[in-house]
Amino acid sequence: MFDAYSGYRLFSRLVLYLLSCLLLGLVFGHVLEVLCLGAFLMLAWHYRQLMRLNYWLWKDRRLTPPQGSGSWEGVFNGIYRLQGKNRKRISQLAGLLGRFRQGAEALPDAAVVLDSSLNILWCNKLAQLMLGLVWPQDNGQRVDNLIRHPDFSSYLKKGHFQEPLELPSPVSEKRLLELRLMAYGDRQLLLIARDITRVRQLEGMRKDFVANVSHELKTPLTVLQGYLEMMESMADAKDPNLKALQLMQQQTGRMQSMVEQLLMLSRIEDAAEINLENVVDMNKMLAVLRTEAEALSRGRYQLTFEFDGQLDVHGNELQLRSACSNLISNAIRYTEPGGTIVISWKKVATGAMFSVKDSGIGIPPQHIARLTERFYRVDSARSRQTGGSGLGLAIVKHALSHHHSELLVMSEPGKGSTFSFVIPQHLLALSPK
Ligand code: ADP
Repeated sequence: MFDAYSGYRLFSRLVLYLLSCLLLGLVFGHVLEVLCLGAFLMLAWHYRQLMRLNYWLWKDRRLTPPQGSGSWEGVFNGIYRLQGKNRKRISQLAGLLGRFRQGAEALPDAAVVLDSSLNILWCNKLAQLMLGLVWPQDNGQRVDNLIRHPDFSSYLKKGHFQEPLELPSPVSEKRLLELRLMAYGDRQLLLIARDITRVRQLEGMRKDFVANVSHELKTPLTVLQGYLEMMESMADAKDPNLKALQLMQQQTGRMQSMVEQLLMLSRIEDAAEINLENVVDMNKMLAVLRTEAEALSRGRYQLTFEFDGQLDVHGNELQLRSACSNLISNAIRYTEPGGTIVISWKKVATGAMFSVKDSGIGIPPQHIARLTERFYRVDSARSRQTGGSGLGLAIVKHALSHHHSELLVMSEPGKGSTFSFVIPQHLLALSPK
């Protein structure tokens, strides 16, 4: 009726035992002595059970507990049940851990698990090969004690892990690694390292290929252009080939300008860091740009120039001029004759802003984010018609990134566009007194 281990049952057994002792005491006429003897025997029995439990817990190797009796049966069985549950949980956790490790070992990248103090908790085999870690000896070591590179230490110190870090492998200087750190589990970090040597090599090959091909195309195109010009000048007005010659000349001109732009783009891309010690005389540069713009406009547009006094910047003149002139020539090419174009160079709160505002055809919003991609054109037919290569804004983007700046585009289809960029305060040169 009652649960075998219920308190009520245990209590009723105790009462029964004491009553039997009392009865025996009454029979023999020594109630107190018999009660004392009964209590002593009960204590001795409990003590023996305790000793058996102690022996089983600490010395016995058997998994099953000794057979308990009376109130101790519940205690022994309870402990056994708890142990069974723990064993099951441990084996589940071990299975989970094994699967996680197998997964991490199967990754094509090096993976290192770090605690919140950047100590190594675990790493896979590739981490040992690529980062030179030794497992399990490096367990608990701080990761920057083992991957010793100033860039890595300052990357960890800054704590901004959104951008990956490129680092030569600690094992071989020739290999380039891309490291990423991400929050993981309970205040832990996961360090993933990927070998990007091949990707960088291929990128370099691509750049070299484009630069070499463009360079090699330059001479034949100049020869072609020269002969075409000569043939055109020699042909008389009624010559049936005149139209074909003019078209050929136009197309070689296009090819020449595309080659020039490709060369300019690879030159700007190659210049990893520009010398920011150089000061660009902006007034002189803007005067050249103004003459160029007027020549391109040939009086067909209303050009306005708004330049603040002397406002020079630290940077590369060729790159800045290329960026500005691309923006100006775009404004002219994508605005119908008669439109207005305002070119300004002004001091603003964050530095100095160059902007070109036109009343041209504008750009639908879905294209704006992709304009600086190579060969991206909103309307290829129009771009081709106006002599565009789709490389102009890619050049602008690269040139500006060298000057810690980026291109801002505001545009409304049919109403016009504003292309601008801000050269930050720290690149402004102090004007001479
Ligand atoms: P492209 O040589 O074709 O002009 P760009 O890289 O200079 O190449 O420009 C990319 C595209 O951006 C152009 O094809 C054109 O569609 C669009 N674009 C650039 N500037 C303007 C502008 N001022 N107004 C309208 N569209 C523009």
